[in-house]
Amino acid sequence: MQKFFYNLPKAKCDFCKATENPHPDYDETIPITRINIGKKRKLNLCINCFFMHKEFCEKKEQPFVPYLSKLNNLSLILDKASKKNSNT
Ligand SMILES: [Zn+2]
Repeated sequence: MQKFFYNLPKAKCDFCKATENPHPDYDETIPITRINIGKKRKLNLCINCFFMHKEFCEKKEQPFVPYLSKLNNLSLILDKASKKNSNT
């Protein structure tokens, strides 16, 4: 069972960059979970991204952690690209 951390002051999803719980009834930061993707790297994923990607992997019968690692690499590349663009 995946453990989620609720109302961490600096909670931020590495994928969708959410920091606040989108649910209108909860005035708190986004619930996140930490996933070890190897090479001493950890991903912070919000509850939405976690279940979205987990469901996707289960449907496609893909291993979850390598899939997250690949997405993380892609998002790092995209981050760099968008930073480059904003500087020009
Ligand atoms: Zn997210």
